[in-house]
Amino acid sequence: MQTQAEHLKAISQFSARNYSPLPVVITEASGSWVTDIQGKRYLDLLSAYSAVSHGHAHPELVRVLVEQAGRVALTSRAFNHDQFAPFCQEMAAFSGFEMVLPMNTGAEAVETALKTARRWGYRKKGVQADQAEIIACSGNFHGRTISIVSFSTEEAYRADFGPFTPGFRIIPFGDVAALKQAITPNTVAFLVEPIQGGGGIVIPPVGYLSEVRSICDQHQVLLMLDEIQTGLCRTGKRFAFEHEPMRPDVLILGKALGGGLIPVSAVLASKEVLGVFEPGSHGSTFGGNPLGCAVARAAIRVLVQEKLAEKSAELGAYLLAELSKIKSKIIQEIRGRGLLIGIELKKEAGGARKYCEELMELGVLCKETHENVIRIAPPLNITRQDLGFAFEKLRKVLI
Ligand SMILES: *Cc1c(COP(=O)(O)O)cnc(C)c1O
Repeated sequence: MQTQAEHLKAISQFSARNYSPLPVVITEASGSWVTDIQGKRYLDLLSAYSAVSHGHAHPELVRVLVEQAGRVALTSRAFNHDQFAPFCQEMAAFSGFEMVLPMNTGAEAVETALKTARRWGYRKKGVQADQAEIIACSGNFHGRTISIVSFSTEEAYRADFGPFTPGFRIIPFGDVAALKQAITPNTVAFLVEPIQGGGGIVIPPVGYLSEVRSICDQHQVLLMLDEIQTGLCRTGKRFAFEHEPMRPDVLILGKALGGGLIPVSAVLASKEVLGVFEPGSHGSTFGGNPLGCAVARAAIRVLVQEKLAEKSAELGAYLLAELSKIKSKIIQEIRGRGLLIGIELKKEAGGARKYCEELMELGVLCKETHENVIRIAPPLNITRQDLGFAFEKLRKVLI
C-alpha cells in the first residue's frame, strides 16, 4: 500500500466506520509534529485528545518503554513485579491519595470508579442492596461501555445500544441546586468532569467544585472527578480540581498517564474507599502491567521535571489572550484553562469540521467537538514558536 488514496480506500472497505477522521495518513511523529504518508508535516493541536501531553515519542519515555519491554512487560496480577510498588507509591505521592487501582483505558477506570462507589454505598453508607444511585451531568463524556453510555445524554452514543444499566440520574452541569435536589438517601456518588472536554470544553461557574464538595459532604456522597482529560497538567495545574480549594474522594486518571505510548489508567482514593475491594472482586489482565507502570512512572517524572503544569498555564494564557483578540464574525466564544481551549463557532458558521479541514491544508491538525467547537489541546511542551505558527493558521481560517 503506497498512496494516501489506497489507504483511505482500504480503511473505508475494511474498517468499521465508528469514526470520521480527517483524510490524513500519519506515518511518523516527533514532539508536536506529525508527518503524513506524502511527507507533509503538520502541527498536532489535538495530541490524541490529551493522551500525548508529553509530545510524540518523548525520548525519555521511549527509552523507558523499550528498556522495560526487553526486561519484563507482562506478568498479570497473579504475580507481583518490581515496577508495581514504586508505581503505586509514586502515584500516591504525586496525587496525595492513599491508594491506587490501575487499569488500562479511561472507560475501564470509570467503570472501576462506578463499582467502587456502589460497593462503598452498600458496605459503608448502608444503602439497601441494588438501590444505589449515581448522579452524573448532561453533556458528560466518560467513555463508551454500555454502563457508561447508559448515563450519556448524547443520542449518537446511545442509539440502539439498549437496554441500559439502571441506577443513574442526570442533572445539568454547573448547577449546584440541581445536585442538591437530585440527592436521595440512596445516592452513593456524584461523577463529574471539572471541565467537560467531550462536551465542548465547558467550564463550570467559579466555585462550583467547592460547593459540590460541601454538598457531597453534607449527604455522605462520594465526589468522583473524571480527570482523564483535564488531569496531569493539561489545565495548568497538576489536576484541574486544584483551581479550587477542594479535593475529590475519587480521582480518575488516564490518557496522558501512558505518556502517549500505551494505555494506562488509574483510580485513586482513600484506604476507606478503595478498601472495598477484596481478591476476586475486580481485575484486569493488563491493568498494572510492568510496561505500563514503568512508562507511567516516567510520564509523571517528566511532568514534574519539565514543569509541564507551569508551561501549560503560561502558554495557555498566551494563546487564549491572542485568540481573544481575533475579530471574527463566526466566533461565538473562546474559553479555556491552560492548554485546553475551545473555540466555539456561531451556528451560521456551518460546523467546525470544515475549519479543521482548512487547517489541515495549512499544516495544522485539529478536531471538532460537538459540531461547533474547535478543540485546541497541543502537547504541553510545545514551543512558543510552534504555538505562534498555530495561532497564525487559526487566525487565517477564522477571519
Ligand atoms: C477520553 C475520556 C474517557 C474515556 O477514555 P478511553 O481511554 O477512551 O476509554 C473518559 N473520560 C474522559 C473525561 C475522557 O476525556
